[in-house]
Amino acid sequence: MPNRLETPFHSDLYGGRLTIDLGAIAQNWTALKNRLGDATECAAAIKADAYGMGQAQAGQALYDEGCRTFFVAVPTEAIALRRVLPDAVIYALNGLLPGTIDHYLEHRIRPVLGSHAELVEWIDLCKGAGRSFDAAVHVDTGIHRLGLSPSEFTATFSKPDQMGPFIPSLLMSHLACGSNPTHVMNDHQLRLFREVTAPHAHIRRSLANSAGVLMGPEFHFDLVRPGISLYGGQAIENEPNPMKPVAKVEARIMIVRDVPEGDTIGYGASHTAGRPLKNAVVAAGYADGLLRGASSTDSRPGGFAMIGGHKAPILGRISMDMITLDVTDVPDHLVRRGAFVEMLGPNVAAADLAAYAETIDYEYLTSLGQRFERIYRPLS
Ligand SMILES: *Cc1c(COP(=O)(O)O)cnc(C)c1O
Repeated sequence: MPNRLETPFHSDLYGGRLTIDLGAIAQNWTALKNRLGDATECAAAIKADAYGMGQAQAGQALYDEGCRTFFVAVPTEAIALRRVLPDAVIYALNGLLPGTIDHYLEHRIRPVLGSHAELVEWIDLCKGAGRSFDAAVHVDTGIHRLGLSPSEFTATFSKPDQMGPFIPSLLMSHLACGSNPTHVMNDHQLRLFREVTAPHAHIRRSLANSAGVLMGPEFHFDLVRPGISLYGGQAIENEPNPMKPVAKVEARIMIVRDVPEGDTIGYGASHTAGRPLKNAVVAAGYADGLLRGASSTDSRPGGFAMIGGHKAPILGRISMDMITLDVTDVPDHLVRRGAFVEMLGPNVAAADLAAYAETIDYEYLTSLGQRFERIYRPLS
């Protein structure tokens, strides 16, 4: 994994910059931890390169803040994280890929066993060695992706001879509808998880992602696995977001130009100037992760950027390498060639642009590209 702290080019040569506030990630983790009882551990979901923020940097910052347990998706991410955090507990959420047990053991990666086949493979390992190796077991309580069905789980776990020496380090399940706390699924999954795991109260249990942490203590159990909230994202829809923003994207103005009333802007001529407009063309596009779905048309507004406290709506289609902004109402001294415009940050929430693009901030953050200069603000 490249070390993004080493900036290979002069700062002035980038079309934009992505500033990641590691202190805010640490503060968000502590804020979530402070919602938990003393007996509950606050872990961190750090998959997908820490939701685009940089796995090595985010992992180290979280570890320095006190986090000791990390969840990634696939074993490659787990092994990369192990190089950075030699003492952390690392779980691979996607489970056990066939024929790879030796790699998990070598790097002390704990799979989250997600099917009967994976469980059997792990139990055979434990039986062969005459001891337990740490791994989580995922029980499906309704999302129907990974996880043993409750009946599969109970059938295996109620027979000690089938389990051999294996004692899971964690029993977990995953919420399908946490972003909507009033959804009936949350209560259904909570009750099913309690019921299925009740006979195994000596094993630690985990149900909550970020939304589960925010929904309250009955979802917390022994360990929580927040992801998006650590990175400043919006875990619960249509509610104020209590987390600190982490990522800031600023793109540079290349040119400022006038567009006469009635002329169109960008590919597909999707947006017509309804009055004489002043445009700023900035050096960031969908190749940098700015979501093309947030383009504007004559019948639908698009996303917006902020320039010195002024809103600058996106005009026309977002293209690969550039975006056109309406700066008609922004004072001239702020829209100079070379100036930086906030595309994402404290004044432009990731969830806002994502909503214009009919997606979620999870997708937006993980799509933020490698073409920007990356700047890490350290823990203070
Ligand atoms: C991604 C993930 C999380 C973290 O979810 P957020 O909504 O980002 O907090 C927790 N648990 C599992 C199983 C996941 O896949």
